[in-house]
Amino acid sequence: MNIRIEKTKNPKAKPEGALGFGHIFSDHMFIMDYSIEKGWYDPRIVPYGPLSLDPSTMVFHYGQEVFEGLKAYKAKDGRVLLFRVDENYKRINVSNERLAIPPIDNELCIEATKQLVSLDRDWIPQQDGASLYIRPFIIATDPFLGVRPSHTYKFMIICSPSGLYYEEGLEPVKIYVEDKYVRAVRGGMGFTKTGGNYAASIKAQDIAHENGYSQVLWLDGVEQKYIEEVGSMNIFFKIDGEVVTPALNGSILSGITRKSAIELCKQWGVPVSEKRISIQEVYEASQNGKLEEVFGTGTAAIISPVGELKWEDHVMKVNDGKIGEITQRIFDTITGIQTGVIEGPAGWIQEVK
Ligand SMILES: *Cc1c(COP(=O)(O)O)cnc(C)c1O
Repeated sequence: MNIRIEKTKNPKAKPEGALGFGHIFSDHMFIMDYSIEKGWYDPRIVPYGPLSLDPSTMVFHYGQEVFEGLKAYKAKDGRVLLFRVDENYKRINVSNERLAIPPIDNELCIEATKQLVSLDRDWIPQQDGASLYIRPFIIATDPFLGVRPSHTYKFMIICSPSGLYYEEGLEPVKIYVEDKYVRAVRGGMGFTKTGGNYAASIKAQDIAHENGYSQVLWLDGVEQKYIEEVGSMNIFFKIDGEVVTPALNGSILSGITRKSAIELCKQWGVPVSEKRISIQEVYEASQNGKLEEVFGTGTAAIISPVGELKWEDHVMKVNDGKIGEITQRIFDTITGIQTGVIEGPAGWIQEVK
């Protein structure tokens, strides 16, 4: 399928100063439509701008939508690099299947991403740690208030130049272990990237913020015993020399940064396992001096060291509130690969020409 390109006649001024995350958008966006008769059709890159949608549009009412998140980096030598983009589009189809959205062609998505990033390459910031955050998403667009899968959809990609996620550097964060609300349950859609999971989580996130915690650690939705993940990150523990992360069980998002961290540990010979782990086990490890490191993984922050966990009335300090050795090594390696400084495993990087 040929991608039609309509360039903007009014390029915007590039941002100056701190970029933050998710506030600023580049000059163009990608759109493609779906109908039952035509399938996915009319892929195009057009000037960035608002959509006009009927107030009855299904996504507004029932949340039938999926999204992805990845980053483009500009290497020191000027090359533009995408990190494991094929994994994002494999995953969007996993989410699509659960949300009853028609599947989308991975190759076309990758090509669309590359053409959009190529056209907006001057929007990729070059400060250390900065990148162009890429947000593909699909929304249900039938103007209809009945409940059923939509017959029409829009797939779009927008790009947002973003600074270092933590402007002050890799400072360990404080995490609140949520024991009241739950985010997802088995049989639900916790394994997908969809707005509904976030809608279920923002209240707990808000309360945690008010109490001085940067994120919430979710426990399983049935017994609230087993660890699931953090707001928009997967979670890892290093306990007595072994790196452990909760096994994918249907209610946890299968993070690409998670997968990359596991693959790197294996490559380095660092013991790593995916298994069910309870908050009680983590607490006991912390009491016995065996909770050596805790970190989150996700595209936005890459790696986020955790310096403190609060569970009920227990406060667990991790590694004296300092970043741990394996946490730092994984961060340095993944960011090194993403910026073209380190040669990663085959297939992790795709270049935008
Ligand atoms: C996106 C996301 C992650 C992290 O996945 P990455 O592919 O590493 O960015 C973790 N948890 C949730 C709920 C997410 O939406």
